[in-house]
Amino acid sequence: MAAKIISGTEIAAQIREELKKEVADMKEKHGVVPGLVTILVGKNPASVSYVTGKHKAADELGFFSIQDDQPEDLSEADLLKLIDKYNKDPKVHGILVQLPLPKHIDEKRVLNAIDPDKDVDGFHPVNVGRLMIGGKEAKFLPCTPAGIQELIVRSGFETAGAEVVVVGRSNIVGKPIANIMLQKGKGANATVTVVHTGTKNMDAHCKRADILIVAAGVPGLVKPEWIKPGACVIDVGVNRVGEKKSEKTGKMVPILKGDVDFDAAKEIAGAITPVPGGVGPMTITMLMKNTVKSAKTHAGIE
Ligand code: NAP
Repeated sequence: MAAKIISGTEIAAQIREELKKEVADMKEKHGVVPGLVTILVGKNPASVSYVTGKHKAADELGFFSIQDDQPEDLSEADLLKLIDKYNKDPKVHGILVQLPLPKHIDEKRVLNAIDPDKDVDGFHPVNVGRLMIGGKEAKFLPCTPAGIQELIVRSGFETAGAEVVVVGRSNIVGKPIANIMLQKGKGANATVTVVHTGTKNMDAHCKRADILIVAAGVPGLVKPEWIKPGACVIDVGVNRVGEKKSEKTGKMVPILKGDVDFDAAKEIAGAITPVPGGVGPMTITMLMKNTVKSAKTHAGIE
């Protein structure tokens, strides 16, 4: 039987509806409006499009948001001053510095300057540590891994006691999702294996997975014979493999493929995320969720 297709587009829309109600409720009962600021240095076209998407989502949910676009030659000292200003601004609950930054700016120093309690991307070392400790300590989960967890849980897959195999060990996807799945509690409590370029017999590890999460950035890396029949497969990879003419606009657009051979894998898996339309739409939504959480924490709302 062909796999159920897990639509990130639909699940993200469902979460945004829930957030919209939560935001309206916060406004009405407590007079609190979640505030998000993005800082974009330069005009990298991909970054401009990501930032625009974040503000569109923030506007739809009724946030207060500031799009602080800065010139390419902004000095590191001036960027740090800007972050300090927003760290102190009580209307701002989430600060996001869009990456990559120009070469003359030390990315690490900049990210470390964000108040960990406003770090809605979850990349500050304090939040990485909080996730490692787990439980209530884990304040802001990084957005892509948090989205993956939501996709699994909302598709009805049981994580407790499941064999979860994660392909990839990056700081933004592989390591945090492995850590999330390892925690005690709902939507986690799994037995976790992480595989990478140093792993022997990767296929054998993947074949054991009840839930297989692939974040390698290698198109078609996971073959259908590596998948356990009935498994839940989350394909995080987004790989540009060519270009095609858009039927809507007539313009050339990239052809995107995941890390899993989707057409063959869907005949074996129990459920699978498509690329695009799987993990991708969840990331911005989880950023919004983190900002709402931050606003509530700052206002002392349970
Ligand atoms: P990354 O930093 O390049 O890390 C890739 C990881 O995969 C590394 O740990 C690497 O192992 C491992 N890997 C690469 N080739 C492998 C192979 N042949 N066999 C086993 N392991 C292999 O990438 P990332 O930032 O985690 O992103 C991964 C993919 O997810 C990319 O396609 C990216 O575009 C996509 N992504 C999507 C979203 C989204 O949809 N919102 C968000 C983030 C990332 P080593 O450590 O041993 O080198």
